[in-house]
Amino acid sequence: MPVVGVLALQGDFEAHAGALQRAGARAVEVRKAEELEGIDGLVIPGGESTSMLKLMDYYNLFEPLREFGLKKPVFGTCAGAILMAAEVLNPSQRSLDLLDLTVERNAYGRQLDSRVTELTGHALGGGPALEAVFIRAPIIRRVGDGGQVLASYQGDPVLVDFGQHLVATFHPELSADLRIHQRFLEKLGN
Ligand code: GLN
Repeated sequence: MPVVGVLALQGDFEAHAGALQRAGARAVEVRKAEELEGIDGLVIPGGESTSMLKLMDYYNLFEPLREFGLKKPVFGTCAGAILMAAEVLNPSQRSLDLLDLTVERNAYGRQLDSRVTELTGHALGGGPALEAVFIRAPIIRRVGDGGQVLASYQGDPVLVDFGQHLVATFHPELSADLRIHQRFLEKLGN
């Protein structure tokens, strides 16, 4: 059974651990650099990316997380996607720079602050629409080389596969559907 770490500094890491376990992995919480040893992949959950950056500095995790991501698969959701992107706008912010991606934080504005929607026409097999829970989500403004857009919402990419890594601007861990977590588990051990 693959072992997947969930960065547990802040945000909804417990929901991810539950989804990973239901999808067939063992989930372990990661708060220290040593806990990155022996895991096959890592989830960076949603939450507040600025707070997570501060906590990464406090726990001396920034460099170890970057090094981990250069070698092994990372799945970032919402704030996690912001932390993985090469370029962050609104405002500009430091990141782990693991993906050739530009994201704009809190980009849906007030009316669309948070919502649950159905994504049709996604590339995750022939099954039903994907439920997508958006919470103060970023918008992906640019997908660089190597990114395959698996689903879009209102014309903007919201789920992108980069081969080694996966990012979503919404919160798949808050829906019962396990297809996105399973997609990530397929990357482990490759
Ligand atoms: N708005 C948050 C940020 O900019 C992300 C929100 C989320 O992860 N649900 O970091």
